Amino acid sequence: MDRYAAERIRPFGASVFIEMTRLSIEHQAINLGQGFPDFAGPDFVKDAAKAAIDADLNQYAPSHGIPRLRKAIAATFRQRTGIEVDVEREITVTSGATECIYDCIQAFLNPGDEIIFFEPFYDSYHASAIMVNATPRPIRLYAPDWRFDEDALRAAFNDRTRLLLLNTPHNPTGKVFSRAELELIAALCVEHDVIVLADEVYDRILFDGAEHISIATLPGMWERTLTINSTAKTFSMTGWKIGYAVGPANLNAALRAVHQFVTFASQTPFQDAMANALEVADAIGYYDQLAAEYTVRRDAMREAIVRAGFGVLPAGGAFFLMADPGERSFPSDMEFCFWLIREAGVTTVPPSAFYAKPDEAPVLARFCFAKKAETIAAAAERMAKLSVGSA
Ligand code: PMP
Ligand code: GLN
Repeated sequence: MDRYAAERIRPFGASVFIEMTRLSIEHQAINLGQGFPDFAGPDFVKDAAKAAIDADLNQYAPSHGIPRLRKAIAATFRQRTGIEVDVEREITVTSGATECIYDCIQAFLNPGDEIIFFEPFYDSYHASAIMVNATPRPIRLYAPDWRFDEDALRAAFNDRTRLLLLNTPHNPTGKVFSRAELELIAALCVEHDVIVLADEVYDRILFDGAEHISIATLPGMWERTLTINSTAKTFSMTGWKIGYAVGPANLNAALRAVHQFVTFASQTPFQDAMANALEVADAIGYYDQLAAEYTVRRDAMREAIVRAGFGVLPAGGAFFLMADPGERSFPSDMEFCFWLIREAGVTTVPPSAFYAKPDEAPVLARFCFAKKAETIAAAAERMAKLSVGSA
């Protein structure tokens, strides 16, 4: 890193998504690495964005989001959780969930404060914590079912703990936290007066009857939780970067204090299009269709992984599968992923990028299945050839 770079950001380097995308292009591989759909998002959402641009909704939005989108978020949140929110004071729109998480960490942590999150973790959590000189306290999730140790979680809380970041359904494992797990987390947060950031960006992508529970709905939690979501996953438009947080007015006020100086406001026409999407999605059966289509993709991806001779871990939600190398053996997940690119021409993501100490990561590869049937079929065909060769 350049000598002009601030000390705290010097360890960052290029993110795993940038690096694996570069390698994927270099090897002309099928990219199942970075989590984004390679299929088109829905026409009704695209048409709404075009209409918004033509209607000249192209100037700065109010910093906390256009009223139409906040109303649509409130209605969706009420339908999902039963909680009625104040549209003016309890919702903030941001440029994706990533900005929202960064802003919240800026808003609630002083240097030296501690933040708890489950490991493996979405990589921006750790980096955002480092950028405020806070101390990350990762709690390990253990394969194959990604349980955590209750005593380890309990021991992580102390008088410097200010925030707990919870992601369910979980990237990269596909874990959906159970009610009992959420009740334990909630009880500890109440006991230690800790705020929760609930990253629920995959809440509509669930399999096999898995139930998504918002921790904000548990007793004593509304007043200490900001529930974060992003329309990127739900409407398959990751490039639009429309995210939001829902929670009590005092927490939103702190988030807004930061957001106004980070981006000030988020893209007006895409906010309007996302408002339209949220308004109609349920009535047209869009959410059921989304989950059904992802189930088909997950099953196809799982079959491809198994046929290549790898093991596959269970996933209750999100759009990733974690695979182990089966009979083969690799010194690290990086070597496993590099080998997959070289030998099969398939790009995945090494989960060590989601560990504070990467050398402690299990030897797995994360396959993103937010892909067209033909992309998954092409990857399956390439990987099938592996089972006859040797590592
Ligand atoms: N949280 C998790 C768990 C994610 O996987 C992602 C991204 N894919 C985000 C947040 C970021 O969402 P956005 O694209 O809206 O910034
Ligand atoms: N969240 C996506 C993933 O986990 C990628 C987001 C990004 O590229 N920053 O793959």
